[in-house]
Amino acid sequence: MDAMSASNHYDLIIVGAGPAGISTALHLAAIAPEFISRTLIIEKQRHPRPKLCGGGILPDGEVILADLGLDITEIPHYDVDWAHFDYDGKGTRMRGEKKGKFAFRTIQRDEFDAWLAGKARERGFLIYENTAVKRAAVNGSGVTLETDHGEYHAAVVVGADGSNSVVRRAIVPHEPIHVARLLEVVTPPRPEASFHKQPDSYFDFVIVPQGILGYVWDFPAIKNGKPARVRGIYDSNVHEVRPQIGLQAALAEEFERHGLDLSEHKLQSHPIRWFDHRSAFSAPRVLLAGDAAGVDALYGEGISLALGYGKFAARAIKRAFETQDFSFRDYRPAILRSQMGKALRRRTWFAKFFYGIRSPHIQALFWHKLGWAIEWIVRTFLIEWARRDKKRQT
Ligand SMILES: Cc1cc2nc3c(=O)[nH]c(=O)nc-3n(C[C@H](O)[C@H](O)[C@H](O)COP(=O)(O)OP(=O)(O)OC[C@H]3O[C@@H](n4cnc5c(N)ncnc54)[C@H](O)[C@@H]3O)c2cc1C
Repeated sequence: MDAMSASNHYDLIIVGAGPAGISTALHLAAIAPEFISRTLIIEKQRHPRPKLCGGGILPDGEVILADLGLDITEIPHYDVDWAHFDYDGKGTRMRGEKKGKFAFRTIQRDEFDAWLAGKARERGFLIYENTAVKRAAVNGSGVTLETDHGEYHAAVVVGADGSNSVVRRAIVPHEPIHVARLLEVVTPPRPEASFHKQPDSYFDFVIVPQGILGYVWDFPAIKNGKPARVRGIYDSNVHEVRPQIGLQAALAEEFERHGLDLSEHKLQSHPIRWFDHRSAFSAPRVLLAGDAAGVDALYGEGISLALGYGKFAARAIKRAFETQDFSFRDYRPAILRSQMGKALRRRTWFAKFFYGIRSPHIQALFWHKLGWAIEWIVRTFLIEWARRDKKRQT
């Protein structure tokens, strides 16, 4: 639905109908259904809308969805067999969970986000689409949102409006930039010349010694019902480094290794804000969730985390209205104490440590010889947080 002038005062306005915003709404519907009629979701585009993303959802995301009674297999998806972590084409491989039969799933973001938004509508939430928030202003009694369809007022606003969040800018006007850069390309299935296997996903850290602090990736996917590959390059930017090569040139080199020509494909880019435990997650009357709050610095993974933030945001909103304390001073400690927050904090730490090592020999040693140690670190410290959070709460 597009914006209309029926009412412009709400108890809660969620800005952004991506995974973070919709997860906040669905968790609220589960723990405090009385909020459904008191909430408005504002989205600048119309679902199904394009969203640049590899579409890889880790099992943590599926744990959160299952808790909401949602099953991702309702929409087209690809079960990725193995996740390979390589240096120059050689390394270690993993599956998502110890006994898992696949590493993770990929979905197409326009379909996934439209499906999620549909679930929120089914539960009775009102979503105004094609409505962009231009500015947010916080005062003692609430928040005023200036949109391209007039002003809206809310007692509480959730900024789930992504890495370039307008809501975040309203509460943190000046801050250090913690933003990763990504380029992405969709290609047909792998050419004969590629040594990558069609059902597997690949992360290759060969670019780190050149000062690009991330990896090149290659995932299997389903695009418009047909098998495809989503390829791209991730630069976490966790250290200030002048790379020896540009992102596009490095991706073109990777394409050549697999018998592809980058210039024949459409290249797109988008940033990801990464998690810094010292940065802002809330202000009085305002909560941030998903990319607007900060996601994974190590891999640029954000879908499962955006879904995870929604749970904490919903709880904080319920508590604020019960106690009439809208300071949201408990939101940050709740995030930092959670298994999700701990995993995020560790991923930022590991990104700074690991991408600080730019010797090709040491990088090769990690991936070629220490695969078992990497797998242990990933499982123990970086993933499987959703199940642990769930266990803690029951
Ligand atoms: C190239 C690339 C590849 C990626 N690959 C993966 C991957 O494979 N797996 C993974 O887990 N993560 C991946 N990510 C990260 C992932 O896409 C994000 O972390 C995730 O989308 C965050 O969800 P969100 O709901 O916080 O934000 P978003 O998905 O960005 O949703 C924000 C919503 O807010 C709306 N919005 C924005 N501004 C306004 C405004 N002013 N007013 C109203 N509405 C607004 C947007 O239209 C959007 O619908 C990738 C990111 C990029 C850039």
